[in-house]
Amino acid sequence: MIEAITNISFELDLEGLLKGAHIKPGTNDAKEFEDLVNNAQKNARPKALYKECFIQSKEEETITIDDIIFTSQALRINLDQVERVFAYVVTCGKEVDEIEIPQDDFLKGFWLDTIKATLLGISGRHLSELLDQKYKLGKTVDMNPGSGDVAVWPIEQQRKLFALFGDVENFIGVRLTESFLMIPNKSISGIRFSTEINFQSCQLCHRENCSGRSASFDKKLWESVQHD
Ligand code: SF4
Repeated sequence: MIEAITNISFELDLEGLLKGAHIKPGTNDAKEFEDLVNNAQKNARPKALYKECFIQSKEEETITIDDIIFTSQALRINLDQVERVFAYVVTCGKEVDEIEIPQDDFLKGFWLDTIKATLLGISGRHLSELLDQKYKLGKTVDMNPGSGDVAVWPIEQQRKLFALFGDVENFIGVRLTESFLMIPNKSISGIRFSTEINFQSCQLCHRENCSGRSASFDKKLWESVQHD
């Protein structure tokens, strides 16, 4: 079953956003920023899409869901004891993405990105609460194509993840570029599953100085998902 959630209610926190963007209240910047936040509050439509899926088969390095074959050693290992996954796409929504900013106004572009990231967080939390309420998932792990080192779950498989839904753009306005990036850029796709294992893609990522890192690189785990 596919469910698209297109009516997520939200209240943007101006004070928190100002703080996050390092803008001093009472300044001209603060006034312009507030206008942008008000615009987003009025027009943004954060959205989420998910599908409950059952794994059809598991081979050495692949899993098959709805006749779509995903290839990833890490995915295969993590799903060893799992039969059901939830594929999802969450997004800030194309409406906020379409707010016009002059191309050379990098500061405003940055501000809008900050607001979009907040809206993405809102849609992500909405989906998590809904899945927890409806399916009582307990402890879960998320995996996302393109997260971690390149070969962990190659970003190209984003196309296959989208294929599980059919027309994602029609459902929630998110489309994939030729290079497998999502538009709007503040969108996340992945799968979530109940499990007792502990896993975060950052454990399989060599990238240094990443501000988003949530777990240290784990050499032993990384070696366990190599092909040779
Ligand atoms: S360390 Fe950074 S780039 Fe690597 S998986 Fe984590 S968040 Fe992504």
